[in-house]
Amino acid sequence: MSARILIIDDSVTIREQVIRTLEPLNLFTFYYEAEDGLEGFKKLLSSPVDIILCDLEMPCIDGFKFLCMLKARPELLSIPVLILTSVDDRERKLKCLEQGASDYITKPFDQEELVARVKIHLKMKKLQDDLKHSNDLLLELSNTDYLTGLFNRRYMMDALEKEVQRSVRKCGELSLIILDIDHFKHVNDRFGHLQGDVVLQRVALQMKKELRSYDYAARYGGEEFIAILPDSTLEQSALVAERIRLAVQDTSFDGPLSPLCLTASLGVARFSRGQSATVDGFITQADSALYRAKANGRNRVELFDPDGPKYMHF
Ligand code: GH3
Ligand code: MG
Ligand code: MG
Ligand code: MG
Repeated sequence: MSARILIIDDSVTIREQVIRTLEPLNLFTFYYEAEDGLEGFKKLLSSPVDIILCDLEMPCIDGFKFLCMLKARPELLSIPVLILTSVDDRERKLKCLEQGASDYITKPFDQEELVARVKIHLKMKKLQDDLKHSNDLLLELSNTDYLTGLFNRRYMMDALEKEVQRSVRKCGELSLIILDIDHFKHVNDRFGHLQGDVVLQRVALQMKKELRSYDYAARYGGEEFIAILPDSTLEQSALVAERIRLAVQDTSFDGPLSPLCLTASLGVARFSRGQSATVDGFITQADSALYRAKANGRNRVELFDPDGPKYMHF
């Protein structure tokens, strides 16, 4: 067990008593101490802890104020706070619990009771952390394409909807790149479906490498990929698309795929804030540029500018 505890009490004697009581159980690897709520809060921000024992009456920031400060930080709310106080008063108890405390123990404390309560809250915290971890994992899985690790189509559509709204709100630029591997059916036919999958993974990697951290890369369908580029003009996005095209063309493969010369075609569109502008329309425009890239010989980038001369070759 590698849990960490924070003990906030203005009495050094109490802090020592608590540590002496808990130490033999080997529950904690770190014991942080603080003399009042403010020092405790600062420690909490710099070192994550699993449980907090907090006195009520302290100079400056007391236990109540400490609980209030915690409330303002949602990321800290999952840490159980056990109030440890000499005030044995019903109203105070209720107030503490209402303010978010998990438990209330009175001083002088019964050592076995303190240990038992700390153990229960630690156990609940661990279950809660495990559950959150599983949920985060599930969410990530549900947004991810299993083969390439890029976002999947569903996530991409949500992200694009949000970026379109943001672009309308902020009058910002927004572009879209659609990539489709050239003659991918031949790749499968020649090297087999499994090797085809390896090719898809490599293309995904090349695409991601050319994007900025706040761009989105997604697998749109079988051998089609999409990149959303917020705050990027058509010209800037065309340069990115051209870099991706070159990266795919220059990819060298090992093993059975080593004779493969791979290319891809790319369509780029910029979002236009016209009245009838929709996410679907935006994708259709990038798709039509892609179609032109295919029709004009493949291994090339074509652009669609809804407000300009429409189609352009990079
Ligand atoms: P074009 O240059 O016109 O795009 O030709 P293409 O052969 O790439 O086009 P088409 O869309 O006809 O073929 C796409 C192929 O991609 C067909 C399908 O079997 C293959 N494919 C789709 N998903 C996967 C996948 O997950 N893994 C593998 N290995 N192949 C896939
Ligand atoms: Mg005190
Ligand atoms: Mg295709
Ligand atoms: Mg294709």
